[in-house]
Amino acid sequence: MPGKVYVGKKFMPGKVYAGESLCRKKVYAGKKFMIDPAAVAFDIDSVVADTMTLFIDIARDEFNINGIQYSDFTSYFLEDCIDIDEDIIAAIIQKLLDGHYDAALRPFEGAPEVLARLGRDYAPVLFVTARPYPGPISNWIRETIALDPGATEIVATGSYEAKIDILLDRHISFFVEDRLETCFPLVEAGITPVLFKQPWNRKNNRFVEVDTWYELEKLIEFK
Ligand SMILES: [Mg+2]
Repeated sequence: MPGKVYVGKKFMPGKVYAGESLCRKKVYAGKKFMIDPAAVAFDIDSVVADTMTLFIDIARDEFNINGIQYSDFTSYFLEDCIDIDEDIIAAIIQKLLDGHYDAALRPFEGAPEVLARLGRDYAPVLFVTARPYPGPISNWIRETIALDPGATEIVATGSYEAKIDILLDRHISFFVEDRLETCFPLVEAGITPVLFKQPWNRKNNRFVEVDTWYELEKLIEFK
């Protein structure tokens, strides 16, 4: 937020993140922004899991809806950006949440490797999702990331707002998220968002953002 100061101690001892330095150009130019691997957590859908490609697959396989492109998802509110009946959107989401589909949910390239690397030294790796219940996503995380089951932890909050209490409770300072609207209350709570670029969050020009897991990996201050 303009005028707010992000005291260095809060994130990484010895480094100062003035409010201004959250502006991504300054951050990357100065190479000051680094993510503390012991204090980072992750959203799951559209950050680790390529959920919207699965949405497209379910729409095609089970509802005979063809022609949706990933780039069509320009809003977090699907009714606003794709021409599909609201009831069908809801039905697809429900299948997605319950694991009722034949298509595969895939991780984004590099995600399993980076998360496994993180989990080797900083377990448990925390995932906080706004899904109402973990459902099949818990097993998916455990099957996708080559770590012991105890090295990952998944919390389903049921709401975006509730993510913040969980993150504060676990002393998380950095959260990788794709929903732009969640980034603002994160900053208010003293948590630095890292925005995973998606077609629906392109209005951003303020938060640190990454295009890929390889880019994200470079920002993590591994030992
Ligand atoms: Mg998400």
